[in-house]
Amino acid sequence: MARFIFITGGVVSSLGKGLTSAALGALLQARGFKVRLRKLDPYLNVDPGTMSPFEHGEVFVTDDGAETDLDLGHYERFTGVAARNTDSVSSGRIYSNVLEKERRGDYLGKTIQVIPHVTNEIKEWISIGEDEVDFMLCEIGGTVGDIEGLPFFEAIRQFSQDKPRGQCIFMHLTLLPFLAASGELKTKPTQHSVKELRSIGLQPDILVCRSEHEIPEKERAKIALFCNVRPADVIPAYDLKSIYEAPMAYHNVGLDQAVLDAFQISPAPKPDLTRWEDVEDRIHHAEGEVRVAIVGKYTQLEDAYKSIAEALTHGGMANRVKVKADWIDAEIFEKEDPTPHLEPYNAILVPGGFGERGTEGKIKAAEFARTHKVPYLGICLGMQMAVIEAARNMGGVSDAGSEEFDHEAGEKRFTPVVYHLKEWVQGNHKVERKVGDDKGGTMRLGAYDAALSKGSRVAGIYGNLAIDERHRHRYEVDIKYKEALEQQGLKFSGMSPDGRLPEIVEWADHPWFIGVQFHPELKSKPFKPHPLFADFVRAAKEMSRLV
Ligand code: GLN
Repeated sequence: MARFIFITGGVVSSLGKGLTSAALGALLQARGFKVRLRKLDPYLNVDPGTMSPFEHGEVFVTDDGAETDLDLGHYERFTGVAARNTDSVSSGRIYSNVLEKERRGDYLGKTIQVIPHVTNEIKEWISIGEDEVDFMLCEIGGTVGDIEGLPFFEAIRQFSQDKPRGQCIFMHLTLLPFLAASGELKTKPTQHSVKELRSIGLQPDILVCRSEHEIPEKERAKIALFCNVRPADVIPAYDLKSIYEAPMAYHNVGLDQAVLDAFQISPAPKPDLTRWEDVEDRIHHAEGEVRVAIVGKYTQLEDAYKSIAEALTHGGMANRVKVKADWIDAEIFEKEDPTPHLEPYNAILVPGGFGERGTEGKIKAAEFARTHKVPYLGICLGMQMAVIEAARNMGGVSDAGSEEFDHEAGEKRFTPVVYHLKEWVQGNHKVERKVGDDKGGTMRLGAYDAALSKGSRVAGIYGNLAIDERHRHRYEVDIKYKEALEQQGLKFSGMSPDGRLPEIVEWADHPWFIGVQFHPELKSKPFKPHPLFADFVRAAKEMSRLV
């Protein structure tokens, strides 16, 4: 039977609950336990798929095709456990399930209420797959005291009562602000936050306190006394240079021990932390730096490309170099020559994106990379832009474009080298879609297989001819142009198994130019960098030696 750890946050948002949960998951794994992490989000969107990256950061896609919160990315990067669509749920999804059941008459004429109907729905969600793991870590999004979060807090309170004693613990993350004028760490906001929790029936077992300064023993004792926890269960969380230091840092201050003690697991299995020691060694002993330009649209908000930033870091770790990534707004290249902007970089990455804005600039970036022989990695839209560039400048289709942009503009201006796919095969069934389908969930989403060409660069990089990677897009490169483009040297080196959908393109006569229709960044881990990112950074390192 799984044990449950509920992680909540107080005082302010953005304290790093997701990271703390992920690091704790990694530490429990290091002690030999099987874990799964889960995120419960109070917002009313049914899923984050329709949210702008400006609002909520990146949409993380799982193998089974769920569009989820970016915290699931942290969970995967720290534990290597592939997240599932049941590992992320929002109030929107919960309410929509409840309302659907109500319409179907499942509640037999009862009055539908937050307690018990909504809370029951949440509890059911929490327990999905409980028999498969030793620990289920459930993070509640938002901050204690938020109106929207209340049904979740109530549900976890009930849940812990439904389970046998000792099966659930509560971990609460807070902030200890530092007042420079008096030179003191203040514990009052933490006390209030715990008071708020206790007023809804939740007594934290463990407090994790974020602080920029060392927490003196005296303050720790005070927090313990006022918040009704043991001093050993007040765990300091200091700022770190790299998020990947978190597992070791938390281990060193006793977080995993405190959790095992709270569950009265004794003797505690000894941890094997070699994976994280190696990760730290690679972070701290990087030799040199490579510079990568990321030419995109959502450049103001780094979280919009969270997994790409992390995958680049992992690629750096694989090559023992530091990767310095700069985000460049693609629109600049629509007015200015990209050369002076891109020349300082050892490699160029064009990430995924939606809509026409900035695409002409991305096409310019792809052209620059091709003609200047700079390593280029095009991801999803970044691959489509590379193909459009090739079609325009090498394939004789001067007005090549994507149907996406014509749809958006409501007029036909381009020859669609990238077109809107209306039906495709997933596993052994056909998926169909109409142009006017709902915005959410109408994409080719989740893991799909691809077959790589023998002797291609990507086959060498993967060391395999059969791969599967995660997708999130509506448009596809048209195979009609395969032959003409291959003759120019743009090889379609990865295809869907039925040969209909181009998955990877690469320029043959180029040191490193690869476009992929999928999102390799979603599967990269610090202890297992994605081969494409590892090799992209290797190529960039080579470039940095040349220039
Ligand atoms: N907008 C493009 C499509 O829908 C690319 C999507 C992406 O980059 N994730 O096909």
